[in-house]
Amino acid sequence: MVTYGIDLGTTYSCIARLDSNGNPEVIRNNEDDSNTVASVVFFENENNVVVGQAAKENVETDGDRVVQFVKREIGKPDTRTYEFDGKTYTPVEISALILTRLKNLVEAQGGTIEDVVITVPAYFGLEERSATKQAGELAGLHVLSLINEPTAAALSYCARQFQEDRTILVYDLGGGTFDVTVLKMSMAQNDSGRDVQKIKVLATSGDDRLGGKDWDDKLYNHILRACCDDSGLQPEEVEAETRQDIRSKVEEAKRKLSKKQSAKVRIDVNGSRTEIVIKRSDFEQMTSDLVARTMNFVDATLEKVSAEAIDTVLLVGGSTYMPMIINAVEARFPGKVQQHDPDQAVAKGAAIYASMLVEEVGSTSAQGDETSGDETIHAEQLTSKFTVEDQTPRSFGPGVVDVNGAKHKYVLENFIKIGEKMPAVFTKTYYPLEDNQELVRLRAFENMSTDDKLIPCVDEEGNPQATDPAHNVKLLGELVVSLPPNTSRDTPIKVTFKVDASGVHVEAVNTKTNETFETFLRTGSDIDIEASAVHQLRISSD
Ligand code: ADP
Ligand code: MG
Repeated sequence: MVTYGIDLGTTYSCIARLDSNGNPEVIRNNEDDSNTVASVVFFENENNVVVGQAAKENVETDGDRVVQFVKREIGKPDTRTYEFDGKTYTPVEISALILTRLKNLVEAQGGTIEDVVITVPAYFGLEERSATKQAGELAGLHVLSLINEPTAAALSYCARQFQEDRTILVYDLGGGTFDVTVLKMSMAQNDSGRDVQKIKVLATSGDDRLGGKDWDDKLYNHILRACCDDSGLQPEEVEAETRQDIRSKVEEAKRKLSKKQSAKVRIDVNGSRTEIVIKRSDFEQMTSDLVARTMNFVDATLEKVSAEAIDTVLLVGGSTYMPMIINAVEARFPGKVQQHDPDQAVAKGAAIYASMLVEEVGSTSAQGDETSGDETIHAEQLTSKFTVEDQTPRSFGPGVVDVNGAKHKYVLENFIKIGEKMPAVFTKTYYPLEDNQELVRLRAFENMSTDDKLIPCVDEEGNPQATDPAHNVKLLGELVVSLPPNTSRDTPIKVTFKVDASGVHVEAVNTKTNETFETFLRTGSDIDIEASAVHQLRISSD
């Protein structure tokens, strides 16, 4: 069965697969005459939910029935919900509606779809990842894996233009987010000793509140002001219909300005027609601070990898069509900048990755033409051609008790640090806190710190405890381990954490009985925060 790659974007989503020759291809959205689907949902009435461009056209007039930018909410603590016609929707459910629309694109063209890889921003923590996976399952898809967006973009680039020992900077400016990632392509050997092309992530950073939407907002305000100047109205006197009219024309005007020096917009200002002309130079001026913000992230990344080491800069994300972006990046990296399939690279890379994960896909297209040059990618080769080495998006570890004399301190031991190679595995032996302890509630945390130990967000009595907010400590879940009667406090309990792009696997082995307890952590939402000191493991005090 064909596997699919899905770019579930903040503003636009895209779905791709490999064709019979093994080339990635995007499934067209014929209804919107586009390669993408706007990630916007309009709850028109209880019988009709609209996803895509048509939904977007109701943002200003029926804003309270439209949900957009839901990717910013997914998997976040205290997640908000939406209510329409007596039904409540979580961000996961809204995302599932967008995924269902993508699934329908495939089905409408006679295809069947089940196994998919969905992309996530590199900075997504575990809860955001789990929630994305859940959304896929809710849409009736089987999520083989998740892959980080910049890694997917690099994979689609490498599949076409692999060059040994090249360092690539991926500058991804989408509709709502900005990501910068540095990767290295090299030759390596895989587990079975075969030579493979390796993509290794060296550094990553970004801003999940910076994207094309900010350019739209500036242009919207500019046009609104111009309409007011023309008509003598105050901004608060401008009707909702006029605002929707401006809103629905802003993006088109922005796209026009990527091609032309000026764009004309006709707006019905409270019923009377007004024509506004926007010059590209003015647009560039009013948004220059946004460009500078992206370049600050680029510079921060270059503190980890020197600018001279960068061989190629890939521009991905729809907003990199803007000449001001191409120019700013070109000025920083003269002669090294390439635009790479800005709105499709991520979905295509995910499709390649999905086929790498499912071996049988290779055999179905084994008869592809082997001699047609660089442009053709063969699925058969892909499965054994690449290896992807990504980085952990956070630090991870268990909460345990540090016994120091009579004093107990509940600490988080950072087994796996942010930026480590994935999959990352770490094992350590702990001991029950007391003799005859019947239960261990082994809690797993994620955080943004690189310290070995942290005072986590709960103390040994389960009371909330302040940690530096910058560490962003989150309780992910717990593994309940029952201990047999008469267990002594010297019984070694071996704890293992394994982290990959899809989540965290926690295992605890009672080495006296060899009993194994394990869990794949999804979310921490159903954990009772009240824990007791008697349910903990301790760090060996000798
Ligand atoms: P996402 O963040 O949802 O992954 P994309 O990478 O698809 O988004 O980028 C969407 C953004 O790109 C939107 O803000 C859209 O307006 C913008 N965009 C798309 N095409 C152009 C263009 N030709 N010129 C300027 N901006 C564009
Ligand atoms: Mg994107």
